[in-house]
Amino acid sequence: APVDELISGLCATIPDYPKPGIVFKDLTPVFADGAALKAVVDALVEPFRGQFDAVAGVEVRGFLLAAAAAYATGTGVITVRKAGKLPREVVSEDYALEYGNATLELHTTDLPPGSRVLILDDVLATGGTLGAAVRLFERCGVEVTGVGVVLELGELDGRSALKGHRVSSLLRL
Ligand code: IMP
Repeated sequence: APVDELISGLCATIPDYPKPGIVFKDLTPVFADGAALKAVVDALVEPFRGQFDAVAGVEVRGFLLAAAAAYATGTGVITVRKAGKLPREVVSEDYALEYGNATLELHTTDLPPGSRVLILDDVLATGGTLGAAVRLFERCGVEVTGVGVVLELGELDGRSALKGHRVSSLLRL
């Protein structure tokens, strides 16, 4: 089956999680299925093949995709983490959540200036999270080749937070 059908067939929908009124898309059944995981990782890499030196994942589900994509392409994996988790010098970016704010951090020396990174996460919603991740790399002089997600919630227009960047989603709902 095409990758979008694999995803839509396995993705679970949970109403009122984690808060009333939010419809949560749960991709853990996609990760748990060997054929689907392989198809998803291959499809995330494909548009950007040969154009990146490392793959970054956003804590925590992005780590799964980034590690697999890095291994599949013989590149390194970079962790974009929640505040306070990285032990060396970091850059920090704040971003808005539906309620309140959050902070992402990146080690300043994980990638040399001029290198190219592909950033992966599971879901693009408002784009706040991936927008912050992009800014972290740009502040370190790293070129963002593109952003890849398994699922894009189109109604929330996350692409507007990623203007000027290539964004690839495998399924748009
Ligand atoms: P954004 O910052 O609004 O684009 O939200 C994206 C971040 O929140 C990603 O790291 C996702 O893992 C998480 N997220 C938002 N909505 C969902 C969802 O429906 N399912 C799973 N993760 C979600």
